[in-house]
Amino acid sequence: MILLNSLIGLAALVAAILFIAGRRERARREPLPQSSPLDAGDLLEDRLPWLARLDIEQRARFGEQVQRFLRHKRFIGCAGMEITDEMRLLVAGMASLLVLRPGAAAFPKLKEVLIYPGPFRVPVTEPDELGLVPDEPEERIGESWQGDRVVLSWQDVEAALDGDAVNVVVHEFAHQLDDENGAGDGAPSLADYTEWAQVMQSEFDRLRRLRRPRVLDPYGAESPAEFFGVASEAFFQRGADLAHHHRRLYELLRDYYGFETA
Ligand SMILES: [Zn+2]
Repeated sequence: MILLNSLIGLAALVAAILFIAGRRERARREPLPQSSPLDAGDLLEDRLPWLARLDIEQRARFGEQVQRFLRHKRFIGCAGMEITDEMRLLVAGMASLLVLRPGAAAFPKLKEVLIYPGPFRVPVTEPDELGLVPDEPEERIGESWQGDRVVLSWQDVEAALDGDAVNVVVHEFAHQLDDENGAGDGAPSLADYTEWAQVMQSEFDRLRRLRRPRVLDPYGAESPAEFFGVASEAFFQRGADLAHHHRRLYELLRDYYGFETA
C-alpha cells in the first residue's frame, strides 16, 4: 500500500517536473492548462527562487536531475518523521541546483536521504584537538556520510527555504560533491584546479584570520572541506553579500554552479 502510493506520487511528480522545464516560456504565450499536474512545479517555483536565474537549458537539466534524484535516492524518515512528496521534491530540487553543470552526475554515490524532524543528537566518536572524546552526544542539523548517505533536519531545511543564512541541504550536498573524487579536501571534481586552489586557499586563510566574518560562517575555518560547504551556503543564501565582500570567491562558485545568485 505504501509502495503503491509512493509510486503513484512519484509518477505525478516526474510528470510535473518534465512539464516545468519548458514552462516559463510557455507561460508567457498562453494560459496554463488547468488539468496539468502543476502543483509540484508551482511548489518548486515558489520555494526555490534560484530557478528564476536559470536559462532554458539549465531549467531542462534541472528537471532531469530532479527526476533522477527522485528515482534513485531513497528517503527515510527518522524519529517519527513522516516523509511527504513535498519534502522529497524540495530536497531533490534544492540539491539539484548544485548539479546543473553540463554532464554533471546527480550525486552518483548517494543512496539514502535521512530526515529528522529537527536537530538530532549523535554520539561523538572522534577525539577533539586535545585528544578527548566528549561524553555528551553532539547536536547536529545535517551530516554527509562519505559516499552513500545524507542526514538532514527538516526544521533547518525549511529555515533555509525561508531565507536563513544556513542552508543545510547546500552544505551537505557540497560535501557530497567534494567526496565524489574520494578526497574530501574542499574541491569537487574539476578539469583544472589552478584557480580553485588559489581562490579557495586565500579565502580560507582570510576566514581564519577574521575575528568577526560578515558573510561566511566561522565554521568554514575548520577545514577546507567545511569551507567549501560554508562558501556554497553563502553563495546560495547571501549571493549579493558574497559578491560584495568576497568577489573572487563569488565568481569562482558562480562559474562552478553555473548561474548568478547576486
Ligand atoms: Zn560540514
